[in-house]
Amino acid sequence: MARIGFLGLGNMGGPMAANLLKAGHEVRGFDPVPAARERFAAAGGTAVESAAEAVRTAEVVISMLPEGRHVRAAYLEPGGVLELAPAGALLIDCSTIDVATARAVAGAAKERGLAMVDAPVSGGVAGATAGTLTFMVGGEPEAFARAKPILEAMGRAVIHAGPSGNGQAAKICNNLMLGIQMISVCEAMALAEKLGLSHQTLFDISSKSSGQCWSLTNYCPVPGPVPTSPANRGYQPGFTVAMMRKDLKLAVEAALATGARTPLGAQAYQLYNLFASEATEGLDFSAIMTMISGQSH
Ligand code: NAD
Repeated sequence: MARIGFLGLGNMGGPMAANLLKAGHEVRGFDPVPAARERFAAAGGTAVESAAEAVRTAEVVISMLPEGRHVRAAYLEPGGVLELAPAGALLIDCSTIDVATARAVAGAAKERGLAMVDAPVSGGVAGATAGTLTFMVGGEPEAFARAKPILEAMGRAVIHAGPSGNGQAAKICNNLMLGIQMISVCEAMALAEKLGLSHQTLFDISSKSSGQCWSLTNYCPVPGPVPTSPANRGYQPGFTVAMMRKDLKLAVEAALATGARTPLGAQAYQLYNLFASEATEGLDFSAIMTMISGQSH
């Protein structure tokens, strides 16, 4: 069992760290938000008052932070992870961030002789809680081999995506598909209704036809066909509109930086920007159905 320093005990990091405890690891967790530290302590973890206390004695450091700038700050600033982690420690960043930042931080870690992988996740808060996340991991094969058994305590699929940054590349491309597909299902549901075809009937047919996709069969954006989907509980998340906007922004920026053509991704990003407001940002991303069907906004 490993001595783990965990940074970022939020909606995802909190339950992930709790699953590491359940697997028998010794976890020292830090989050600047006192309520997050209290939740972690209540789950049996050792909540500490600074990142330094979590990292200084760690064999493995795991971070689950909001954005690239938080990751840069936590790792690169004076008194950050790269300065404090003991020699030989393995660094695992599970946040969803841009590929360039992931590669820059891993490169700086390498200069200090520390192995690092980027390991963003799919599966949301439900997957984090149940320990069924999918991890997409970028880094050298030796670092991946060391990270795998640790990540398996928090997920059911741990996949090596290639060198440093490729975990983030996989995550961004996956969510580009997800954002576009969700909007496609919303548009088809809205059109079906106008044509006198019920949501349930379209679902029954398309879930067995070529329009089938995860956004339809697992996460249907209208109430009824998939009882567990957020549409049945007032679009409580799930995966928020704010998160989908963030991930589509990462995709659009990555496409601009590399010259890839993602016209539908750009359109999906614009539609989520149009939909996002103070009232909707915290809703599940499938709530964009309400805008597309003309029910709101
Ligand atoms: P969150 O905002 O709930 O949690 C992030 C936590 O990091 C916060 O509690 C914040 O206080 C803490 N933090 C910020 N700077 C810190 C620092 N220097 N040291 C320690 N803690 C620090 O966000 P979340 O929903 O847990 O998401 C985390 C990451 O996971 C994001 O990159 C997100 O895109 C990604 N993600 C989220 C979901 C989801 O459904 N929530 C799904 C997949 C991926």
